[in-house]
Amino acid sequence: MAQHQFQTEVSRLLHLIIHSLYSNREIFLRELVSNASDALDKLKYLTVADDAYKGIVFEPRIDISFDKDKKTLTVADNGIGMNERDMVESLGTIARSGTRQFLEKLAADAKKDSNLIGQFGVGFYSAFMVADKIEVLSRKAGEEAAWKWVSEGKESYDIEVAERDSQGTTVTLFLTEEGVEFANRWSIEDIVKRYSNHVAFPIYLTYDQKEYDDKGKEKGSVTKTDQVNDGAAIWRKSKSELKNEDYVEFYKQIAHDTDDPLFYVHTKAEGTLEYNTLFYVPKKAPFDLYQVDYKPGVKLYVKRVFITDDDKELMPTWLRFVRGVIDSEDLPLNVSREILQQNKILSNIRTASVKKLLAEFKTIAETDKEKWDIFVSQYNRPLKEGVYQDWANREAIIELLRFKSTAVEGWTSFAEYVSRMKDGQKNIYYISGGDEKNLRASPLLEAWRAKGIEVLIMDGEIDEIVLPSIPKYEKQDGETTLSWDIKGVNHVGADAELDKTDKQSEKDLQPVLDKLKKALGDRVKDVKLSKRLHDSPSCIVTDEKDPSIQMAQMFKAIGQPVPDVKPVLEINGEHPIVTRLKDCTDEERIADVAIVLLDQALLVEGIRLSDSAGFVKRLNRLLTGA
Ligand code: ADP
Repeated sequence: MAQHQFQTEVSRLLHLIIHSLYSNREIFLRELVSNASDALDKLKYLTVADDAYKGIVFEPRIDISFDKDKKTLTVADNGIGMNERDMVESLGTIARSGTRQFLEKLAADAKKDSNLIGQFGVGFYSAFMVADKIEVLSRKAGEEAAWKWVSEGKESYDIEVAERDSQGTTVTLFLTEEGVEFANRWSIEDIVKRYSNHVAFPIYLTYDQKEYDDKGKEKGSVTKTDQVNDGAAIWRKSKSELKNEDYVEFYKQIAHDTDDPLFYVHTKAEGTLEYNTLFYVPKKAPFDLYQVDYKPGVKLYVKRVFITDDDKELMPTWLRFVRGVIDSEDLPLNVSREILQQNKILSNIRTASVKKLLAEFKTIAETDKEKWDIFVSQYNRPLKEGVYQDWANREAIIELLRFKSTAVEGWTSFAEYVSRMKDGQKNIYYISGGDEKNLRASPLLEAWRAKGIEVLIMDGEIDEIVLPSIPKYEKQDGETTLSWDIKGVNHVGADAELDKTDKQSEKDLQPVLDKLKKALGDRVKDVKLSKRLHDSPSCIVTDEKDPSIQMAQMFKAIGQPVPDVKPVLEINGEHPIVTRLKDCTDEERIADVAIVLLDQALLVEGIRLSDSAGFVKRLNRLLTGA
């Protein structure tokens, strides 16, 4: 017998599971059944795809049994099995990166949401919610030796040689006092029906049934075994056979979610391509949505045989939050995972699936505001990724984008923006580079506000990357295509519609502009008279092609190379601070005012000053009138 230490992360996770997860304990059974089902899927694949496994008689089944007196519950399968190495790798470590952050999140989560655990894919360990000792007896398909893994869920586990008649895995839970409630026929049946009814392999439950004689006296008991699940692949059934509960149950099983899905799309395609797809959108974005090594959510089957659940190509990256199944009739069963990448059939299914999902998104956006608001709050950012990743569907995705705005509460779309536009307005305006509060308070908005022009608030980091790729918004109006330019208010040139300054005042103020330019030197790209400002004395804008200052700072912070972006300083020709400079000849004072005008404009945009001490010194000098 060899003792092994759990990887530190596993110990920490187990500690959390044992000491703080009490809600939804019953999901442990769903997790064990779903592992058994995966193991059967894997073996089924090998028996059709790999000659070495052709000799194995594949009669898949999952068996659950329990013993109330011994306080045990057992889940057995005759699937792929594990050898010693598999046990160490699968039941002793968590290979995925992001584990540490996940654990921190879980530790900080007051509700100790068992949902998080499932999503993270540590399903097996959830059995320690109801057991204080677990034994896993397993024999890998094609191998002679069997192994027994035993642990009490603390720092270590043991593995020793054991025996098992044929391939497969038997997981035995030694239940805690609280866990014993699950060791009875009715709870198990109920949980299996609720969470695993659509597992595509038969799940049997073995139990003792008491027998009575004619007089109603107990005369002993017989052992019975019944199938407790439906056992048919749900995605193959027709929609009319299925109820909402069926869809929801299947979703919870494949997505490890305890919440219902936001919505689902079930498609049966017949004709040149034959396939079934069943897709779900979770109510809450998967926790690993923004991790590079996110777990793909769509499983591929060929003629009901599971092929893979680890192919990121099945969906475009921007749709990585979608959960579900693709089952093709046309792919060969022995298709290798490498060949999948270039497979024409699969790429056609994928294209059709994306179209189908987009059509569903559109319907929901148009008909169910409440659902769509949830969708937007969770998936606005991946949608925006879609705009620059998925050229074929760009137009459709752009229609789905939602933004905050100065004109309305909640979310709005480009289409709604243009429908509110005043006659003659030529552009769609937005402001970006900062958080919502800062953006709404920005002096840049003053002139737009004064003219009653709506401005979209783009407070997401991704907006600065995506918006430059949408220079125009176009809409079909009968035969004609209407088109509007999309412009950032903090970009030079976005002020053309504002026509506030007249030539005369521009001439009057030229000397002031020259003085400021001289004083500021290469701190700025230019100093201009502003059409945007009403109350504030100054603001900064950037050249059409430059990223905003905030964006440049962000790139710098994450170590990305960025050109040194210099702002253009715009000044308000009607503001007393500016007009008083006309007659000022004190060069030191002009320099102080110039730099303070620039620094305060930066500050309002939420940008950190490189020389804050200098700012304070100058301000104090100006205040004392020195
Ligand atoms: P997940 O199922 O999300 O990968 P688990 O913690 O539930 O996470 O399981 C970890 C791994 O242990 C599985 O990926 C699988 O390799 C292995 N495993 C668990 N149960 C079984 C089983 N019944 N048969 C074969 N392998 C299993």
